[in-house]
Amino acid sequence: MRTLGLLGGMSWESSAQYYRLINEEVRRRLGGSHSAACLLLSVDFAEIARLQHVGDWATLGQQLGEAGRQLAAGGAEGLVLCTNTMHCLAAEIETASGLPLLHIADPTGAAIRAQGLKTIGLLGTAFTMEQAFYRERLARRFDLEVLTPAPAQRQQVHRIIYEELVRGEVRPASRDAYRKVIAELVAQGAEGIVLGCTEIMLLVDQSDSAVPLFDTTTLHALAAVDWALS
Ligand code: GLU
Repeated sequence: MRTLGLLGGMSWESSAQYYRLINEEVRRRLGGSHSAACLLLSVDFAEIARLQHVGDWATLGQQLGEAGRQLAAGGAEGLVLCTNTMHCLAAEIETASGLPLLHIADPTGAAIRAQGLKTIGLLGTAFTMEQAFYRERLARRFDLEVLTPAPAQRQQVHRIIYEELVRGEVRPASRDAYRKVIAELVAQGAEGIVLGCTEIMLLVDQSDSAVPLFDTTTLHALAAVDWALS
């Protein structure tokens, strides 16, 4: 088994899910008391969020690149960046660490294509919904058409992530808000919805959507196990 390096804390609420999902899947596949060989480097999310919101991506790249190097020095063989948003710096972090980075959009795109879908709605932070790095990867590599919510709804989806979900708050009113956003994307033609933020799976599940949901936390964790056991 290859050793995974989880770069997490963004937020720890979702990193805890990664840790659980990866270990459950290794046990399911190998049986007995098998568990994953992995390291977890978890950062202080308050500082990450502050740098994101002032647009200091250069400092974020340096800090996460250094974290990737520390995982490599600790014996990690592959990097699992446990957040969609910070994949905007995937190339920098991969280069700095010298480790192969298992990109979160790739198992997501593959799962969507495997269901034969073409048009999907994307929920995530404003950075993920509005910057090109994520939408373009899904469009270019997987030939998908990516819809995002209207500006006011994007702001609401973003606010709920940063003010509630990363703080461990799961509110029924926010679930209703997400349901409405999902329904509008479906009305616009979305055949599936990407939960493109690793905390959204804490708030909504398949019962909140008329079309298939693609939870990036679960898909990324399972892809990490594929890689570790390959
Ligand atoms: N975990 C979230 C994501 O998947 C948001 C936190 C972050 O900005 O890293 O994008």
